[in-house]
Amino acid sequence: MKPAAVEESALRRVAVLGAGTMGHGIAHAAAAAGFETCLYDVAAEALAQAREAIDGIVSRGVELGKVSVTGAAGVINRLSFTTDLGLAVREADFVIEAVPERMGLKLEVLGAVERAAPARAVLATNTSALSVTEMAAALAAPGRLAGMHFFNPVHKMKLVEVVRALETAPATVEAIERVARRMGKETVRVRESPGFVTSRVNALIGNEAFYMLEEGVASARDIDTALRLGLNHPMGPFELVDIVGLDTRLAVLEYLHATLGEKYRPCPLLVQYVQAGRLGRKVGRGVYEY
Ligand code: NAD
Repeated sequence: MKPAAVEESALRRVAVLGAGTMGHGIAHAAAAAGFETCLYDVAAEALAQAREAIDGIVSRGVELGKVSVTGAAGVINRLSFTTDLGLAVREADFVIEAVPERMGLKLEVLGAVERAAPARAVLATNTSALSVTEMAAALAAPGRLAGMHFFNPVHKMKLVEVVRALETAPATVEAIERVARRMGKETVRVRESPGFVTSRVNALIGNEAFYMLEEGVASARDIDTALRLGLNHPMGPFELVDIVGLDTRLAVLEYLHATLGEKYRPCPLLVQYVQAGRLGRKVGRGVYEY
């Protein structure tokens, strides 16, 4: 199996795996870029929610005059939804996985993709921090996988970090960059290392904010305001972690702690919030109540 030297014109069908916070946004971006897009999830309910969320993004786009009514209909028509992985990937030219941040699960899903997708398909993982090299090693053709790290919410965030694993083929990196550009994103190339550029910095800021909250240095609101107005961050670290998901952030910190060392040890208060089920906006409460 040769890693795909995919021509622009040969990239037509995209499969997105996992229809959660990121998957629905990536599927929207792919359909808006003109790709026939199939969104897959194990949970039918997640697909229903994703469809609703995408309808919302598209409708707001029309209201704001960013997309025409015909354009919006085109986006919706290019999207399909399924709980059948084989169906999702069997004709895909490009597959992006956005399942939960657990190595075992990523390996299982990528293995199933490799068995069901065409050999030419380029594979991308939206992992926030896990080793793309480890995922690629489980594939018969490791060169076809690279990281394609989107940001939340996908339709507003301009960056995609393209993560080259040890054995990623240059053609894979180039195909991912082409897809990202068609989605209107800027890309940066990153050699694989835990947390890439963005998650590594972000995890540290977010963890420090929890330590300050735990120590009573300031209230959550004031820490957020301080970083927004004093450091010009577009949002405070607690506003951000409530969007990211506290469980996702904790998983990233645990990984960075294991790979990069002590300075990434998850703050005990963050661990407690996760234990209490305060996972962020997705469940109606995180650091703040919604
Ligand atoms: P999420 O929990 O919101 O969504 C995950 C989805 O995957 C759920 O709908 C779940 O039903 C589905 N799922 C579970 N097992 C599956 C399987 N075997 N096959 C298919 N679908 C399955 O998670 P998320 O926040 O969207 O994160 C997904 C990935 O994106 C993770 O690797 C995460 O680290 C990464 N990421 C997250 C963010 C963020 O801000 N949340 C940003 C960048 C990258």
